[in-house]
Amino acid sequence: MSTGKINVQTENIFPIIKKFLYSDHEIFLRELVSNAVDATQKLKTLAALGESTAILGDLKVEVVIDKVAKTLTIRDKGIGMTAEEIEKYITQIAFSGAEEFVNQYKDKTQEANAIIGHFGLGFYSAFMVAKKVEIFSLSHKEGASAVYWECDGSPDYKMELNTKLERGTDIVLHIAEDSEEFLEQFRINELLAKYCKFLPVEIKFGTRKEGEKDKEVEVDNIINNPNPAWTKKPADLSDDDYRNFYRELYPTAFEDPLFHIHLNVDYPFNLTGILYFPKLKKTLEVQKDKIQLYSNQVFVTDSVENIVPDFLTLLRGVIDSPDIPLNVSRSYLQSDGNVKKISAHITKKVADKLEELFKKDRADFEAKWEDIKVFVQYGMLSEEKFYEKAQKFALVKNTDGEYSTLEEYAAKVKAAQTDKNNRVIYLYTTSVEEQHSFIETAKERGYDVLVFDSPIDSHYINQLESKLENTSFIRVDADTIDKLIKKEEDQPSKLTEEEQTKLKPVVEGVVPKEKFNVVFESLSEKDAPMLITKPEFMRRMKDMSAMGGGGMNFYGAMPDMHNLVVNSNHPLISRILNEQDLEKQKQLTKQTADLAMLSQGLLKGEELTKFIKRSVELID
Ligand code: ADP
Repeated sequence: MSTGKINVQTENIFPIIKKFLYSDHEIFLRELVSNAVDATQKLKTLAALGESTAILGDLKVEVVIDKVAKTLTIRDKGIGMTAEEIEKYITQIAFSGAEEFVNQYKDKTQEANAIIGHFGLGFYSAFMVAKKVEIFSLSHKEGASAVYWECDGSPDYKMELNTKLERGTDIVLHIAEDSEEFLEQFRINELLAKYCKFLPVEIKFGTRKEGEKDKEVEVDNIINNPNPAWTKKPADLSDDDYRNFYRELYPTAFEDPLFHIHLNVDYPFNLTGILYFPKLKKTLEVQKDKIQLYSNQVFVTDSVENIVPDFLTLLRGVIDSPDIPLNVSRSYLQSDGNVKKISAHITKKVADKLEELFKKDRADFEAKWEDIKVFVQYGMLSEEKFYEKAQKFALVKNTDGEYSTLEEYAAKVKAAQTDKNNRVIYLYTTSVEEQHSFIETAKERGYDVLVFDSPIDSHYINQLESKLENTSFIRVDADTIDKLIKKEEDQPSKLTEEEQTKLKPVVEGVVPKEKFNVVFESLSEKDAPMLITKPEFMRRMKDMSAMGGGGMNFYGAMPDMHNLVVNSNHPLISRILNEQDLEKQKQLTKQTADLAMLSQGLLKGEELTKFIKRSVELID
């Protein structure tokens, strides 16, 4: 037997580790099980290379709770360790990481979160939950003797020969009183499902219950899938396989995904994975099924925000890269060069895949468009690189349900919708129902109207406007149609300035002043006598302030202003002007204004009731 002192300055570092890793105590299991898996893989590799004569046998890793002894054991049949190796890997190297951690902590110059995980605490994370850790190990090397090592968390450890007969390593954790949750079957099950679901070696789990002192523990159930879909070749997988794997990842997912991307990169970094496009809602909502990040099939995290671009977090699936460091804090991951490259690469792959789908089967792409639209727009808004690629396949839809790419659309409307200043005007509606009469008028002129009806659209419109040359987007009800796409100078007005000045107060008298701005326009006789429009600029500012745009509160606080446009060329307006009976003049004006409001859905409640009554009287 030998005892030794772990070479570290601090008397007892474990309380500190424990305190600091508080929120993440559970990762000890991931660390220990992945060490066991590594040891198993190493043995397989050595055997394959002919460098180990060991008979492999059943190589499963076992996790066993012993409620009687209050221990949790992680057992592998991997390469094992000799006394020298334990001395080197466990007491020296691994410990130096822990010591470095403590030294940094003492400086307190860095934010605690940034420090945690910077160090491969691996094996020593066991001390977050154990008051004593034992190692029983027998190396695969010929003639090796079994070794026993124990440490109670102080820098002192004990090592002696042992009689272990089976090759491999048992790590036995004597669970501390404050961590007894880790003796609960459901808790360990939960952790194995979270961290070990796809580890590449089969893992069994069993429990010796209280009062079962002399009973063999049954460890029959295999809890993981060692060969998940993303580790296979795309050629070996059917669409069903991909769908089934989606279910395996998200057992509670409601709908099948729309399509998937199988990622496989080996240069300049290693990365595999499968990303799925779920059906998205129009509004961006927090989702519970997220992309999962793995490193060599070891689960790292499912909060990939800031690791992959935001818009990619709308996707689901798995990304596995050994170049993603395990055990590091979020802020560290964000600044990691590999992680940045990975993120750029995925963005490109996703854009490529969408382009491929678009080119391969346009009809199918159009059918799926409404479900992926939010994703594509969000991507275009947030990543310049993605915009560049996506402008080739991003679609716009008009009120007849026809889809065009941006380029196709420009070609389609250019001739008809270029105004006298050489700007192409894209008309759009945010509600086909509410803006119906404006859409109809525009169509009568041979114009096209796009549908932009989701919350993200107003941002998207701003972006397109800044990217497309000589192009303006104007909501179809922003003004009278001939003002929206102004082809020529105004036609002469039938009313003189004087007559307009005389009529204006009459019109103003029938509508609430604070909501309507009365303006005269010389429209066609065929147009309505009065119209209500909402100026584009004002509406956009209000939309932005409603969405929380910075500095827009000023507009948000303003009343909802509309223009009440009086068509000075309409015969009815001349009639109103010439009406001598003032009561009758007022009634006619009110009726005409109400009609305009009615077509905008602005006439409600008492006003609507009065309008109907007045209409009946007029008919009589
Ligand atoms: P890391 O796994 O990051 O190297 P650890 O502290 O977890 O750090 O482990 C230190 C070393 O101890 C490992 O690199 C390995 O050589 C050895 N080791 C740990 N667990 C086992 C095991 N179950 N079987 C064989 N060797 C092990």
